[in-house]
Amino acid sequence: MTAGPLPRLIARLIAETGPMPLDHYMAMALGHPKHGYYMTRDPLGALGDFTTAPEISQMFGELLGLWLADAWTRQGAPTPFVLAELGPGRGTLMADLLRALRAVPPMLEAAEVHFVETSPVLKAAQQEQVPQATWHDRIDTLPPQPLFLIANEFFDALPIRQFVKTDRGWCERHIALGEGSTEDNPRFVSVLSPVPLPSDDILPKAARSAPIGGIAEISPASLAYADEIATRIRDHGGAALIVDYGHVKSAAGDTLQAVRGHQFASPFEAPGEADITAHVDFEALGLVARRAGVNVHGPVEQGEFLRDLGIDTRAKKLKTQANEEQAREIDAALKRLTARNEMGSLFKAVALTPQDAPEPAGF
Ligand code: SAH
Repeated sequence: MTAGPLPRLIARLIAETGPMPLDHYMAMALGHPKHGYYMTRDPLGALGDFTTAPEISQMFGELLGLWLADAWTRQGAPTPFVLAELGPGRGTLMADLLRALRAVPPMLEAAEVHFVETSPVLKAAQQEQVPQATWHDRIDTLPPQPLFLIANEFFDALPIRQFVKTDRGWCERHIALGEGSTEDNPRFVSVLSPVPLPSDDILPKAARSAPIGGIAEISPASLAYADEIATRIRDHGGAALIVDYGHVKSAAGDTLQAVRGHQFASPFEAPGEADITAHVDFEALGLVARRAGVNVHGPVEQGEFLRDLGIDTRAKKLKTQANEEQAREIDAALKRLTARNEMGSLFKAVALTPQDAPEPAGF
């Protein structure tokens, strides 16, 4: 069997310039402009590779909308403002959120919807759902206005670097060509950089004391996003709500994973065909945001957060208008989003607000 164009491209690059850091590999696998995973398909839903909270139930987007409405109102209803979403997927979350905002007409009127999205396939889906949006490839082109921002399962898709502790110091995990690799059929393996880091300063503090063999992760792209969001909120006001799976405290450990057709797969097999993600290090994001000069709230577990925002009442209300089958679906969605053994505990919410803003709901 001959490999697709992306593995061949990556293999050629490695053959020419040597093993590549994991973040470079991940960026190509997910975001290569022509052959990257997100560029070529809609990965969401039962027929795709994974599903997300907004695709499970409209309640998720509605409650996030009401959270933003509360933050906007209590910051004095700044008008106009940027209502932004990072990686909006199919546009479902924003559509549900905007529907909930009909309860706050002045906010709906003041909102200019902006999407940060790189996938042409998903952009097309978003255009169907939210035709009035403006699209950006990167966050830095958003207008300099009060920023009310949401991001669900965006940060987990940003590339990470990994380092392994050895008796020589911390060595970076690089992607190399494995034994028996050919031009038509490349095989990727992970190797250690020959030279260790000169200093462990760039690694999370809590990971530095790991034993030999321990793995530390950093996501420079995530930290750059956190810094940009925080700086805008500090300078123009607003609030950000970030929901994702990850850990509250930085720690050593390998969280890189790949999913293909709702099954775990190897991140090094068939780049471009599987969704590759890593857990979000909320402590690292929080540190960067605080340093930029905003308040950081949470992280709190998704189940707890949604309960606090009233998901039980919302489910009850929806059930009064539902038939028996729909009522069962609402109950199942409620359980998936909030139960500790489903998405309720692994997923977490964190919020950024200006230092002089009131405490946001749910934290
Ligand atoms: N938020 C949606 C989709 C999550 S999937 C939901 O909850 O259903 C990740 C999303 O981020 C996709 O829309 C993907 O195309 C986008 N994305 C991934 N990496 C990106 C990047 N570097 N820049 C912009 N968008 C990106």
